[in-house]
Amino acid sequence: MSTGINRLENQSAKNDTQHISAIDRSLVVLLPDLHFDHPAQHFSTQSPMPPTELIASMNRPLSLTFQLTRGCNFKCVYCSEPPGIRSRPLAVMKAMVDKMVGMRRIILSGGEPMAYKHFWEILEYARDRFEIVVLSTNASLITRSSAERLRPLVDYIDVTVDGARKQHDLIRGQYDAVVRGLAHIASAGIPLSVICVYLQGNRNAIHYIAQTVMPLEQRRLRYSLQFPKA
Ligand code: SF4
Repeated sequence: MSTGINRLENQSAKNDTQHISAIDRSLVVLLPDLHFDHPAQHFSTQSPMPPTELIASMNRPLSLTFQLTRGCNFKCVYCSEPPGIRSRPLAVMKAMVDKMVGMRRIILSGGEPMAYKHFWEILEYARDRFEIVVLSTNASLITRSSAERLRPLVDYIDVTVDGARKQHDLIRGQYDAVVRGLAHIASAGIPLSVICVYLQGNRNAIHYIAQTVMPLEQRRLRYSLQFPKA
């Protein structure tokens, strides 16, 4: 009997194969028996190898978060991005992406990655070179038309929601713009992963966040701890 989960898994496997075949297979050098589980958004394997051996057999990371810019249109209370750092030119960014080829997943992040001047060029460049491409965004710059444009270029989108409107606005601001962006992502049919940064002020908010994003068919809701970058 084919369940909804079976169908999702089959679709994920099909998506994996399509993406791998869409790029040069020789670039996928990392543990081809690792399967990316799209609904759960993590890697899994049926390999009998113990995890330590599996890790030792890798010649590079599976996944990397790549900051396109440190600039951002938000002012979250926990932001650790230092202001005033200039973004790099497109050619430099492309050269950096080239060095990462062979990893299975690239997560384009920031600052706010969509605020980077050459965001679309880098996204298309990454789509041609990686099996899994993820956008980590505050969602405020996503319009109906940009969501349509994003659909073939990303596997899923990460967005942070830190509470109901009042809580979120105290922590991150622009709640309505974020929810509008989430709605555009959902109507474009892009898988969505929602993150909540765990703070003293929002520790009871997870059910509000779940209620807000449930109609948007998000695939994953996760808590993240705040930690300083180093
Ligand atoms: S959205 Fe991210 S980069 Fe922008 S202010 Fe908030 S934490 Fe910092």
